[in-house]
Amino acid sequence: MKKVGIIGAGIAGLTCGYRLVQKGIPVVIFEKKVIVGGRIPFAGAVATERFHPRLISLIKELGLEALKVPLSKTEQGFFTSDGQLLELRQFQMASMKQLGLKGAMYFMKLNRFVNRVRFDVNNFDPRLVKIRNISFEEYLKDCPEIVRKIVVEPMMLFTFGADLSQLSAEYGLTHIRLGNELGSGKAFTFEENNIATVTNVLDAKLKEEGTQIFTSAEVKKINKQGDKFTIVYEKEGEKTEEVDTVVLAVPLDEVKRIFPELNLESDVDYRDSKCIFVEGKLRWPGKKFIVGMPGNPANLRALFNVVPYSQLVYPMDETKEVDLERLYEEYKIVDEEEIKPALPIIGPNTKVPELTTKMKGVYLCGDFYYYPWLETSVATAEKVADLISKEG
Ligand SMILES: Cc1cc2nc3c(=O)[nH]c(=O)nc-3n(C[C@H](O)[C@H](O)[C@H](O)COP(=O)(O)OP(=O)(O)OC[C@H]3O[C@@H](n4cnc5c(N)ncnc54)[C@H](O)[C@@H]3O)c2cc1C
Repeated sequence: MKKVGIIGAGIAGLTCGYRLVQKGIPVVIFEKKVIVGGRIPFAGAVATERFHPRLISLIKELGLEALKVPLSKTEQGFFTSDGQLLELRQFQMASMKQLGLKGAMYFMKLNRFVNRVRFDVNNFDPRLVKIRNISFEEYLKDCPEIVRKIVVEPMMLFTFGADLSQLSAEYGLTHIRLGNELGSGKAFTFEENNIATVTNVLDAKLKEEGTQIFTSAEVKKINKQGDKFTIVYEKEGEKTEEVDTVVLAVPLDEVKRIFPELNLESDVDYRDSKCIFVEGKLRWPGKKFIVGMPGNPANLRALFNVVPYSQLVYPMDETKEVDLERLYEEYKIVDEEEIKPALPIIGPNTKVPELTTKMKGVYLCGDFYYYPWLETSVATAEKVADLISKEG
């Protein structure tokens, strides 16, 4: 039986491994960190039925539906650019008042488009593909300034305030649709920000089936030798493992580093962000999800799943001072780390590689492929598992 070597035990690597093992294909997984989960511990884990169908099916299949917590409109807050905390509804009403007729018309047109197109990792909508190579800035060339400032830019939070000329129009519109979903109360989050349970359960199920998952095992290099591949990894000294198929479930820059012979042509940009871990009590009870505009006085970019949780993580703008007192009655910074929970940024001229590479037997999966959320990682991982099982 052919063996598959999977590099990276984030949700992509683990889902791919899980699907392969279900198909009777043996796998071995390598993870450089001490624990599995990848970016999961830093993720906000907000999801919606429409944007995360594969993730939701996986969660149901694993018996973890109880982790889902609805995120109603009243449980969401918005931290405005002038530092006020507003209920999402108040924020929406205040924004609509400011739009004016021209602005309202433009916004309605934009919404009509994003509400009609299909956002699907496995089946791209041709109307979106058509605008993949133009920048979001260009797409918004007729957008009134007021719409940009009070509607579009706040919805671009999840891009970490990236320059709209650096983003593709397709990617920008995906965020607008996602913002709408959140704003209409269709989203959910995970009990106690416990999305890590998903990767922990996948890890446990794989181990139950006898799968080897090496943690603290950084892959240094992959060598092709005839039809086989040698994975060179560091775990208490240099070790090797021979496999028939390789799945790279790591960020693309890492793929290039450990497997240069693959000649991967891609320039998907990854934005790093400094995160701090805090413990505290939120001054604004009843809210589960609060977002803040880039560059606001409290320097919040996005603050996820905050209220009942003892620990939260949120990305900070390193260049500005931290002002957590606005939000917390008492707070304690428990850890501050230069982590790299990078989010891929899909620009207008980006070369997004296919999941099947030019080298037979080598596959890619992860969130580089479309919008950088959990769904993309799960969907691409499942697709790769299907391709491998068909290859035989
Ligand atoms: C702040 C933040 C908030 C987010 N919020 C949400 C949200 O609300 N909803 C949502 O759907 N998504 C969210 N995301 C996105 C989501 O976290 C990611 O899309 C997803 O976790 C990516 O999973 P992955 O398995 O593809 O990659 P990763 O999680 O990055 O996994 C890759 C793994 O490979 C390992 N690795 C790398 N190099 C090597 C090597 N050489 N050898 C061995 N192992 C290696 C890494 O340690 C890592 O464990 C958020 C992300 C961030 C950063």
